[in-house]
Amino acid sequence: MYDLPTLEPIRRYKSIAVLTSGGDAPGMNPAIRGVVRTALHHGIKVYGVQRGYSGLINGDIHVLSSKGVSNIVQKGGTFLKSARCSEFHQATIRANAASQLRKLGIEALIVIGGDGSLTGAHLFEEETGLPVIGIPGTIDNDIFGTDDTIGFDTAVNTALNAIDKIRDTADSHERYFLVEVMGRSSGFLAVHVGIAAGAEMIVVPEFAVDVEAISLQLATSKRKGLGSSGIIVVAEGNAPGLTNRLAEQMAHHGHTPYVSILGHIQRGGHPSGHDRVLASCLGAKAVEYLLAGYSDMMVGVNQGQVVDVPLDNLTRYRKGLDPELLKIALQLHK
Ligand code: ATP
Repeated sequence: MYDLPTLEPIRRYKSIAVLTSGGDAPGMNPAIRGVVRTALHHGIKVYGVQRGYSGLINGDIHVLSSKGVSNIVQKGGTFLKSARCSEFHQATIRANAASQLRKLGIEALIVIGGDGSLTGAHLFEEETGLPVIGIPGTIDNDIFGTDDTIGFDTAVNTALNAIDKIRDTADSHERYFLVEVMGRSSGFLAVHVGIAAGAEMIVVPEFAVDVEAISLQLATSKRKGLGSSGIIVVAEGNAPGLTNRLAEQMAHHGHTPYVSILGHIQRGGHPSGHDRVLASCLGAKAVEYLLAGYSDMMVGVNQGQVVDVPLDNLTRYRKGLDPELLKIALQLHK
């Protein structure tokens, strides 16, 4: 597991709140539990905000107990519910959300979510002065400043489970499969899944799709006797329908791959052991960082250590794919 910092409490809080926002990720529940149980251990009252920033705006905020977070570590999704909330992009709405917290005497907020959610958290802190700590929770693993995010490991394993089965059909029918995985504008999930699945090719949004090159490589593999079946992992990208369009374009080059879109199965399911431990530690450390006087930061993982990352950095920098990992992925293709 990770090296964890020892943090000395220097600030007192009576009440804090926690919410989950953006796409749900397996491991959000153990992260909430980590926050709640650690806060209670330090004598802090904890509120849960329902449906992310929507619940903050509407005042859908309720006290959480130690028992209330029992029996949730193994459950996917988030029992606090999650949502995307376009109103939170407006500063006036964020000010209104802060007044909902202040009305209840809540002095700080912990936000569990992806890039967008943590950007919102940063603006919220900057404008309202309420201390905020972010916890990276997304299956995409695309958050700057952290090597890992809650839900990524589970999503990789869920996709692998499906691809191992798809490969049986690909082999039997001597066909290629284009398997679409999630990840929006980032290829982290695709590259990890592709390497672990022994994919014949990986298509990521960071590089333009070259249909001719893909078709040529399939033809070359066949000519060399390397087989005429396999798996091509495709990251969904920002434009829906990319994988079906790719299949149509490949048909113009004489290839007729099947398409399998894994979709939302990648978000659900029991969190892996790795994600449960990561989520529990990040939840606990989020509270400890608050007590140590930190704010406007995310608890991240850097080279095996749990670290503090200024939320501001998430808005200024973009996490890139590791070129060495890409090199390995390319070398391992047939
Ligand atoms: P995932 O990685 O799973 O998609 P995410 O947190 O990146 O999660 P988004 O849809 O980008 O998902 O953001 C979730 C919510 O965070 C938005 O619906 C909105 O309420 C808030 N949010 C996102 N970006 C901003 C922003 N620039 N300013 C204020 N709030 C934002």
